[in-house]
Amino acid sequence: MALLVQKYGGTSVGSIERIEAVADKVVAYKDQGNDMVIVVSAMSGETNRLVALAQEISPQASGRELDVLMTTGEQVTIALLAMALEKRGYAAKSYTGGQAKIVTDNNHNKARIKSIDHQNIQRDLDAGRIIVVAGFQGVDEESNITTLGRGGSDTTGVALAAALKADECQIFTDVDGVYTTDPRVEPEARRLITITYEEMLEMASLGSKVLQIRAVEFAQKYAVPLRVLSSFEEGEGTLITTDYETDKTMEQALISGIAFNRDEAQLTINGVSDTPGVAYQILGPISDANIEVDMILQNVGADGSTDFTFTVHRNDYETAMASLEKTANQLKAREVRGNNRIVKISLVGVGMRSHAGIASRMFEILAREGINILMISTSEIKISVLVDEKYLELGVRALHEGFDLKSE
Ligand code: ADP
Ligand code: ASP
Ligand code: MG
Repeated sequence: MALLVQKYGGTSVGSIERIEAVADKVVAYKDQGNDMVIVVSAMSGETNRLVALAQEISPQASGRELDVLMTTGEQVTIALLAMALEKRGYAAKSYTGGQAKIVTDNNHNKARIKSIDHQNIQRDLDAGRIIVVAGFQGVDEESNITTLGRGGSDTTGVALAAALKADECQIFTDVDGVYTTDPRVEPEARRLITITYEEMLEMASLGSKVLQIRAVEFAQKYAVPLRVLSSFEEGEGTLITTDYETDKTMEQALISGIAFNRDEAQLTINGVSDTPGVAYQILGPISDANIEVDMILQNVGADGSTDFTFTVHRNDYETAMASLEKTANQLKAREVRGNNRIVKISLVGVGMRSHAGIASRMFEILAREGINILMISTSEIKISVLVDEKYLELGVRALHEGFDLKSE
């Protein structure tokens, strides 16, 4: 007998028929003798609908009230799934994040889980109940409702699995595993049997939304066995695991996957003086405005002046631009330029560590397609390039083919 934590995403609970199908699946696992904790998302499209309602009232709605609003989506699905389980003759109990005692910090809209007191859930499990927990939500120390950032139900699943010491955390979604790249962009993408936590972390942070990055961080930190599977069809899915196990079982691939991010925007300030403190003068106000900077590039100075380029999330483009223009005036810079029609494409693989020449091969493939690279950044296990958004599909497919990632 095992304890399984299963998370079902928005599409998997997107209609009454889908919720009934999930209930059938869950009772089949229960009948095999497993203890079951189920985490569900809101029905697909619901969180977006709620956000749009808030926007109609006020684009500046407070984080606290947004959280009160957004968490209603998951409250609907926990109740419906628990009812569907009861209808099948199984004892089930729904829990909101607060009832599950998922305590977070008070950072509304992107709260972090601090602790989970799982005593009540454990007691209900021991009594044979199937537990249904609302994903994406918690409460802070003052009982304010919080949310964990978009896609946060994955993190609820992994955190519960860690707290309850579950045998596996299974993320059921609308694809049957983690692929070499998003199968919606490259239909010939290949499902990975395993991927390391480290690579999955990199893929998630570079834009692969199949798992929320914090869920992977949590799984790695607490060594939670994590699997991504389809809720629509049977299969093994993809196991996220440690380097060690992967190395033992198979030869390490050079590249595991290609991630991309459509949310990028680039800003450049030209002709600032090449003196100590300039980077701080430019980026200080950006960080004060709570804007996260991703890639940064400073040119080699010439004639006492230099250029400085960085990227931010597209949603922050206008605010960052306004801040940069102010800084440019103060620094008497020559000009400020920006581009919010760009995307980032990244190659990810722990196999890169021991192989030279991957970057140049990447640049060669992109050059052959006539794709101009706007910016480059590398780390031990990834190479990212910034390109015009019109080249996203072409670039991803060319790299997928060029690095031989297709299905056998
Ligand atoms: P859920 O609602 O179940 O949480 P998501 O939409 O958040 O589902 O995540 C699943 C989606 O992630 C897939 O439909 C797919 O388009 C996308 N995706 C992006 N990169 C990958 C990848 N490398 N492998 C599999 N799916 C990916
Ligand atoms: N419903 C939330 C969202 O759409 C959380 C999730 O689905 O994981 O972001
Ligand atoms: Mg998701």
